[in-house]
Order: sequence, then C-alpha cells, then structure tokens
Amino acid sequence: MPQDFLKTEITFLKGVGPGRAQLLNEELGCFTYYDFIHHFPFRYVDKSNFTKVREAFGFNGPVQMKGKISSVTEVGAGRKKRLTATFIDDSGQVELVWFKGIKWVKPLIQKEATFIIYGKVTRFGKKYNIAHPEIEVFDPENVKSGLQPVYSSGEKLTSKGLHSKGLEKLMRVLVALSKDKIGETLSAEVIDQYRLMSREEALQQIHFPKSQEQLKRAQVRLKFEELFYMQLALIKQKLISQRKIKGFVFSEIGAHFNTFYNNHLPFELTGAQKRVVKEIRKDTATGNQMNRLLQGDVGSGKTLVSVLSMLVALDNGFQATILAPTEILANQHFETVKELLDPMGVKVGLLTGSTKTAERKVLHEDLENGSLQILIGTHAILEDKVKFKNLGLAVIDEQHRFGVAQRGKLWLKNTHPPHILVMTATPIPRTLAMTFYGDLDISVIDELPPGRKPIKTLHYFDNKRLAVFQFLEDEIKKGRQVYIVYPLIEESEKLDYKDLMDGFESISRRFPKPRFQISIVHGRMKPADKDYEMNLFAKGKTQILVATTVIEVGVNVPNASVMVIESAEKFGLSTLHQLRGRVGRGAEQSYCVLMTGYKLSEDGKKRMETMVRTNDGFEIAEVDLRMRGPGDIMGTQQSGMLDLKIADLAKDNQLLNAARICATELLDEDSDLTNKRNFIIRAELQVQMKKRTNWSRIS
Ligand code: ADP
Ligand code: MG
Repeated sequence: MPQDFLKTEITFLKGVGPGRAQLLNEELGCFTYYDFIHHFPFRYVDKSNFTKVREAFGFNGPVQMKGKISSVTEVGAGRKKRLTATFIDDSGQVELVWFKGIKWVKPLIQKEATFIIYGKVTRFGKKYNIAHPEIEVFDPENVKSGLQPVYSSGEKLTSKGLHSKGLEKLMRVLVALSKDKIGETLSAEVIDQYRLMSREEALQQIHFPKSQEQLKRAQVRLKFEELFYMQLALIKQKLISQRKIKGFVFSEIGAHFNTFYNNHLPFELTGAQKRVVKEIRKDTATGNQMNRLLQGDVGSGKTLVSVLSMLVALDNGFQATILAPTEILANQHFETVKELLDPMGVKVGLLTGSTKTAERKVLHEDLENGSLQILIGTHAILEDKVKFKNLGLAVIDEQHRFGVAQRGKLWLKNTHPPHILVMTATPIPRTLAMTFYGDLDISVIDELPPGRKPIKTLHYFDNKRLAVFQFLEDEIKKGRQVYIVYPLIEESEKLDYKDLMDGFESISRRFPKPRFQISIVHGRMKPADKDYEMNLFAKGKTQILVATTVIEVGVNVPNASVMVIESAEKFGLSTLHQLRGRVGRGAEQSYCVLMTGYKLSEDGKKRMETMVRTNDGFEIAEVDLRMRGPGDIMGTQQSGMLDLKIADLAKDNQLLNAARICATELLDEDSDLTNKRNFIIRAELQVQMKKRTNWSRIS
C-alpha cells in the first residue's frame, strides 16, 4: 500500500538510527517518512550564480558569494565569545562574524578550500560584515545540478551533522526510495481540472527541482492541496451546522418592505447595496439560519441595508434588533432608523444603559406583546430580562467588540436562533475572511454612494504644525469642525496621557475661548462624561474634539471635515483608516492630516504612503496583511488556523480562491462525499481533520 510507505518510522531511513531519530522527533516534529518528506526547503540556491563581494556592498538583501577565507580569529570568552573570518574573492573582502555555533563553524572554515557563503551584508562605519552567514565548502560536482534545497535546522541538529546539508543527504535517500510509493490525495477529476502535478512528483520536485518551472508547479500542487482541504473542512462544517440549526423562513416580501422601497427610500440604492439586499433576502428565505458578515468600507451605506433587511423580518411577522458597541452609536442608529421608519408608522425603541427605569418597563412590555417592532441598543439588549415576542433578525454593528458568548445569548432570544447579520467597517482581506469566517457567509459592499468627495490625505512632519493649525483655523472659520486624535497604547498609557494633555493645552492656547470651544474625550473619563463631551461636538457646540482613539468606531458628525492624527506612525493601518472615516461624511471637501516625527521606520513610511495614496479600505487591508502577516491581524488566539506548511495567506489568494471554488463545487454535488470518485478525498479529509483540529473549531 502506497500510504503505508509514508507511515514508516523515520528510524528506518538509512543514515538515521535511534539517536538521530530522537533528535528529528524533538527538533522537527518528524516521526515518520511522511513528516520528514513534508519538511520542505525554505529556500533554494542556484549554485551557478554568485555575487561579487564588491557588488554585495550596498545590496539590500542576502547574497550568495564564492571565495576563500584568509584569516580566522576567535576573541572573548564565555557568552561574549565571537568568531570572525575574512572572506575574499577577486573583487574585495568582507568580514564574517559568528556568536553562536562556533564549535562547529571553526573547524570548517579553517579548511583550505573554496567556500560558498550566503547572508546579508551590513555596514558598520567603513567596515562591512555578515553575521551568521550560511557557509559550505564549494563542490564543483554540484554546480551542474542547478537549484538546491536549503532546510531549516537548529543548533542541536547541526551538532549531530544535521545541518541543511546533512538533512539534504537524508532527503535524497528518502526521495529515491519513494519512487512509485506515494499515493494520490486528490481525485483524478480535481487533478485534471486544475492541471496539477501528481502528489508523488510534487513531493520529489519540491526537494530537488529539475527547474524553476517544475519547482513552481510542485509548489502550486502542494499549496492547492493544503488550501483545498482547509476549505473543504470549513465548508463541510458549515453544512453540518446548517443542517442542525433550523432558521425562520422569511418567505414574504410585503407591505413594509415595498412601501419603504417605493415611497420612503431617501436615495437610489447603489448597485452593491442592491446586490447585498438580494443576498440577504435569498438567505433568509431558505429555512436555514443566516449567519452573514457584511463588510463595507466606512460610509458605504450599511445602515440602509440593515433597515431593508429588518423590514423583511417585519413583513414576516418577526421583530428585529440592532446591537451597537457604544451608547453613542446606538443613539445614532436610533435617530437614523426612526427618521426613516416613523413616516410608515413602524415602532422603534431604544434601550441602553442610561434608559430610565420607567421607560424600560414600557419597552419591556411592548417588546413582549410585540407592539414594538424594532429595538436598537447596546449590550443592555442581551440581558435575560429583555424578552422579545418573536425576534427574527439581529443586526450586530462592528462585530469585533462582541464576543462569541454574547452572540450565544442572542441565540436564546427565541425558539430558534434569529438570523444574524454582522456588519463591519474594518475590511478583512478576502483570503483571511474566507479562512477565519469560512463558516459565515460574506457580503461585500464595494462601492460608495455617488457624489462623495474623496478625502484628501496629507502627511506632514511635526515642524509643519503651525501651518496645520492655521489650516484648522481657516476650516473652522468656514463653519467646519475638527478632530485631533492622539494615540493611546496601553503599555505607555502614562506617557500617552501626558501627550494628550500637553497637546490639549497647546491647542487651547492656540484656539482660545470664547472664539473657539474645545471638547476632550479619553479613556480615563467616565462613560457619562465622555458621552456629554461627544454630544457637545456632535451638536456643533464645540468646534474641536481632542481625543484618543475612543472615537474610532462609527461616530457620525457630518459637519466635521478635518481629522488630524498626531504621532500617526504609532497607529496601525486599519486604525488610521477607521479614524479617517470619521470625516468625509458631509458635502464639503474633507481632509486627513497625518502628523509624524522625522524618524520613521520603513514600515511607518509605508503606512503613511499607503494612507496618502488610497482611500480604499480593502486595498489598505491587503497592504496591512502583507506587512504584518495574518497572525498579527487576526490575533494569536486564532493562530492555530495559520499553521500552514506551505501556503501563505498573504500571498496565495488566487490559489485560495481556486481551492475554495473547487471545494464548494465538490460539496454542492456530493455533500457527504459518498460518490465513488470522491473516496480519496473523503479519506484524506478525515486524516486532515484529525491532524488539524483547529480547522473545525473556529467561528
Ligand atoms: P456605514 O456603512 O459606514 O455604516 P452609513 O450607513 O452610515 O455608512 O451611510 C453613510 C452615509 O451615506 C449616510 O449618511 C447615508 O444616509 C448615506 N447613504 C447610504 N446609502 C446611500 C445611497 N445609496 N446613496 C446616497 N447616500 C447614501
Ligand atoms: Mg455604520
């Protein structure tokens, strides 16, 4: 049996033995041939291509060079021990330095030989050096063979001869043995349709590629397979829970929806809004419970979509609710929805922490007898004593502030869980959304309402502050309002607080009362005080709002046209974009001013450039993903999902798309994988699910 070959214990491989086997277990997690053959090279070197030492100076990135070692020196003792060597070729020389692994490197570099080194040249004053280069003796025999694998190893492995070269030797043995012994894990149909390399060939070529092109094909095959099984597991999971959880059927589109649509719609819906409303209508009519994530950039008009969806619920005799993360947002939604629906006589209520007891009592009653059709509020809605007569749809605004437990509470508000629509203005790159919310359906509003003036974003260094203040004054004179935001990062909360207060003072001096009125909002204030100050600003009683990022989410003050972000380099891209989204909501030209010090890291520069270049939240999310990687974006608690061997969620979006489509089509046709031609896939899925429990544990 082909599969059995890969189950062979690694001890049986020629050159391994019990000692090395234990080391491979402990250091690389390799127990079997399967594990070892999946220890893929992390890069390949082309042993026929070398950079000259002189050209390597000033090159920003690792280079491969060929030359001799002219002198070796060991200095210091104990922890401070350091080994240096002078590496020369016919163009110049460079110093090599080791702080670790000296015992192993020293005898090697003392050999009379030509060496190949690989590493990054760093400049120290007038001198250049390379710290911890990879080094090996140049072997003319090897030159012909082109690409060679480089494996990650470790100090312990290295000390037993299992450095990259040593691992390569073992791998050659294993790959030779594996000929005609590695079975397929994808069906013939899938391999055909996507023109994939066979599994056996891919596992051989990934280690010892015959050419760049073959290497590419091997990588595609293995990445596809990995992503395919991940998506298959996620979609399967979704199907299973859909079968278990029955949802309310919204079969009617009736008077509420139609009257609103025909007579009260304040503007023509954008194409994207129409599409999403259709998706929701379709989804809520099936009898399955809807779990939908609605992504749309700030200002894309998600609220209106939620209103239309709630009307569908009403048409079918159900109630609906909107949960907002803060009281201010709940208030805003309430005002908006009430204004839209009052003319139709729909009853809308507001429930927050500050709702008075007497009002609360009436609300509770109306909710239970069904006369209140829509309830808008904060977490207060989740309390057990808040009972609906017949809740059919819950809209959650800005989902990242709601935990899974809270979602669970919502589910218990009716005999079946209500349909759930989660709205977020923090776009998540598609690849991540498909992975982390693989069990949710996703709708995207990728179009802004017409006639918006794009926000102009400017980046200034701190020395331009006076000019910026003048600009603010000019805008205020035109009747506009201004946000000035300071960072609040937890580790240095004290410092940040001081920055905020210093800033507030200097702004107060520059914009004195009574001509100018300033509000201040920060995390150390009581919620009631915060709301009070925010409301002054929202009502136009103050012209400047000095704040920390507490204003990040959702607040809508259309008259505010300038967002100044202080120490902008301290913010991540998604926060910067969220903050910027607070302006540009009215008819006037709006501005976002990013203030930074001169000293910017490469990443900091890139963030500023990205912000200045584009207003597109999805594009920004993609840049963010490439800069930070998926782990940082989704948070560590989810990082089990990221345990991918070869695919890269930041780079392989096309493959992920293809894999998702493939998995979807397959399950559409054969949801239990009982068709004979899908047996291979069913068996492999079981293997994968056992190995990667993470894939079935998310949502
Ligand atoms: P967000 O998606 O950020 O929640 P909102 O729903 O608050 O966006 O909408 C932003 C603004 O755009 C609101 O003032 C809303 O009235 C307006 N708006 C929504 N849809 C349209 C449309 N189709 N045409 C014109 N304006 C719209
Ligand atoms: Mg909104």
